[in-house]
Amino acid sequence: MLTAIVGINWGDEGKGRMVDLLGSQYDIIVRYQGGNNAGHTVVNEKGKFILNLLPSGILRNDTVNVMGPGMVIDIAHLRREIDGLTEKGIKITADNLKISHAATICFPYHVRQDILEEERLADRKYGSTRRGIAPVYADKYMKKGIRMGDLLFPETLREKMEGIVEWKNLMIHGGYRDQAVDTDEMLEWLKINGEPLLPFVCDVTEYLEKAVSENKNILFEAQLGALRDIDFGIYPYTTSSTTLASFATTGAGIPGAKLDKVIGIMKAYSSCVGEGPFVAEFFGDEGNRLREAGGEYGAATGRPRRVGAFDIPASRYGIKVQGAEEIALTKLDVLSYMEKIPVCVAYEIDGERTDKFPTGDRLLRARPVIEHLDGWKCDISRCRRKEDLPPEAAAYIRYIEEKTECKIRYVSVGAERDAYIDMDNA
Ligand code: GDP
Ligand code: MG
Repeated sequence: MLTAIVGINWGDEGKGRMVDLLGSQYDIIVRYQGGNNAGHTVVNEKGKFILNLLPSGILRNDTVNVMGPGMVIDIAHLRREIDGLTEKGIKITADNLKISHAATICFPYHVRQDILEEERLADRKYGSTRRGIAPVYADKYMKKGIRMGDLLFPETLREKMEGIVEWKNLMIHGGYRDQAVDTDEMLEWLKINGEPLLPFVCDVTEYLEKAVSENKNILFEAQLGALRDIDFGIYPYTTSSTTLASFATTGAGIPGAKLDKVIGIMKAYSSCVGEGPFVAEFFGDEGNRLREAGGEYGAATGRPRRVGAFDIPASRYGIKVQGAEEIALTKLDVLSYMEKIPVCVAYEIDGERTDKFPTGDRLLRARPVIEHLDGWKCDISRCRRKEDLPPEAAAYIRYIEEKTECKIRYVSVGAERDAYIDMDNA
């Protein structure tokens, strides 16, 4: 069974939480895109963890975790993440962590370039996480990347590094007039941070192909959501990789394999980190109240997230581009304080109503059409069966299911592993 768990919205839907829950059914969990700009929060019997690079299965005893060739890896950050988990008693060995030799290394100069560019843009900035993600993906496609596998060949590393640093300084030093990148310094950084990771570096394609042939269950864990996809998201306020399920097997290293299932994670309201169009946004008190109720602060950056009403046009679009067949609706409990629950049912663009999600400049002119549903005004965080839900909550779920035309299989009512309802289990 090959399953992808992906975000339907702008990210932070609770993917880490759902991967942690559903992960028990899988032998292997793979991260296939992005880098440490991700922030997946997992709360289980071992404690509370924030994972930026490692797949969420690292918290399970019998799960093998793979970081695929589609990822970009800041190795200093990864080392800190591994050390942090090890201190908390999580065992990480070459048996439960495999890093693709084809994953691209994110260097300190990528982070610097990211910051330099955001600062140059000032009030026109993209709202980058400033973790170097856009520069490292750009370099990858410029074929100026250093990959994890290069660490295995120190004798040729200096030459590669020199060539790249020379080119990089045209921009960092020549363009931005910032301090020049130094080859020796970068080689030293690679040595300090790369060597401890060497035991994990391997050909994950070989490993995963064998696993597929043995009918192992593999879960592909995405970062961010459909609306942040480089091609299908709200470009240029997107990330720099493909966040879609259709990329899962490719980014994981087994492009010939076929997914059996796509589970979309969708939040019961909207949140969005950083800049860009966000039609159903709440402002002032309405926004503050929801932000507090949902604890909507970035797991990777601590930034307050923008929040808003559940957005039907955006979610329908997200479901379509993800090809999701099943939805986990998360954080329904957060809406419990609301008397009436606003839902964005359509957009108005240039005086016309539409339920299609537009991309490009039309999106910038979209205004939300809001309808209100009845709130339930009681704590639902202890509901474990469909029957436990108050009728208004059940009606809210049904309404979203009908409008988005996708089956809601799971409803999450808390951050803890068992705080969910399987809608198929009576
Ligand atoms: P991800 O990036 O998609 O993995 O999501 P994040 O971890 O960035 O954000 C989701 C946040 O909501 C985390 O702090 C989770 O612990 C929390 N969370 C997940 N599901 C629920 C839920 O159903 N109810 C509540 N109250 N919190 C949840
Ligand atoms: Mg997140």
